[in-house]
Amino acid sequence: MTELNDLPIRDSLRGRTPYGAPQLHVPVALNVNENTHELSEEILVDVIRRIAESLSTINRYPDREFTALRELLAAYVGHGLDSKNIWAANGSNEVLQQIFMAFGGPGRKALSFTPTYSMYSLIAQSTDTEYVEVPRLERYEISAELVTKAIAEHNPDIVLICSPNNPSGTPVDLEVIEAAYAATKGMLVIDEAYSEFSLNENSALSLLAGRPRLVISKTMSKAFAFAGARLGYLAADEAVCDAMRLVRLPYHLSALTQAAAEAALTHSVKMLETVSEIRDQRDRLFVALEDLCLDPYRSDANFILVGGISNPAEIWQKLLDQGILVRDVGIPNTLRITAGTEAETSAVINALTELLGKK
Ligand SMILES: *Cc1c(COP(=O)(O)O)cnc(C)c1O
Repeated sequence: MTELNDLPIRDSLRGRTPYGAPQLHVPVALNVNENTHELSEEILVDVIRRIAESLSTINRYPDREFTALRELLAAYVGHGLDSKNIWAANGSNEVLQQIFMAFGGPGRKALSFTPTYSMYSLIAQSTDTEYVEVPRLERYEISAELVTKAIAEHNPDIVLICSPNNPSGTPVDLEVIEAAYAATKGMLVIDEAYSEFSLNENSALSLLAGRPRLVISKTMSKAFAFAGARLGYLAADEAVCDAMRLVRLPYHLSALTQAAAEAALTHSVKMLETVSEIRDQRDRLFVALEDLCLDPYRSDANFILVGGISNPAEIWQKLLDQGILVRDVGIPNTLRITAGTEAETSAVINALTELLGKK
């Protein structure tokens, strides 16, 4: 049998393992931070109608500039931005990959503050970009001082800050982002995949004016409950979108994707209705975890990193035995749990209470 290593694969890919959150079919899946609420029939019918309409011209290539979609995304993000400031791709992972293709690559360096989103290092690998990991402070917080020092020391071409941070849930103050921008000569990417779950108006969108090297990455995969459609986007200076045009494949966003996302965005208010309910479940989960004498990290996202678990692999398996899937992100003594519906959150709280022997 041919093994991967028998192929003339690039040396930098030898021995690597792919991204691999387990995809198991279980009743309660709380492992990849999706919005676990299904979309309403009213929205789905509209999405189907728009997709159906797009089929009448499916023999033709789609609008390479996805103009209508960019206009809707600009209207959604607000902050005085227009469609020229918006770029989109098949998930924000693809947006991040395009950023690395344009601003990273051989001889270039990306920097982030770990633990953070595992895709940054994988995209760095696949684009042959050097990747520097700077450890976060106590409780996985970051400060203006930490980021300024790290940037001065490493002089990166791309700085990635995830806000709120995955997997810790940690929010990031805007002053930290301002300090990072002032310190770097490279691109500063703020990954706001979870920003809709953040209570304080914490979005770095408000910092874009006058900062052409600042990029805000966003997605419809989390709060929007649209992960299966694969639509991520960025907001930035027009010139950044021009850089993306150099590296994207022509017609990368299919007509079906554009139609689905356009229809969904016309319902943005309705689609985000579950966000406050999810926040409530996250806060309820936090209190329940504290009551179990566990050590949840403060979270501004739709998930909680839980410390104080002496045997996470065993607890992970025992939860799975009960049809509940959470995430072992590889940080010792922790598991990460997505806040789901009220019933799903109850299920995980009850199971943990039983396993950890409370009363
Ligand atoms: C889930 C997630 C994304 C989103 O990825 P998509 O490709 O848009 O589904 C991006 N960044 C972080 C930190 C995430 O957790």
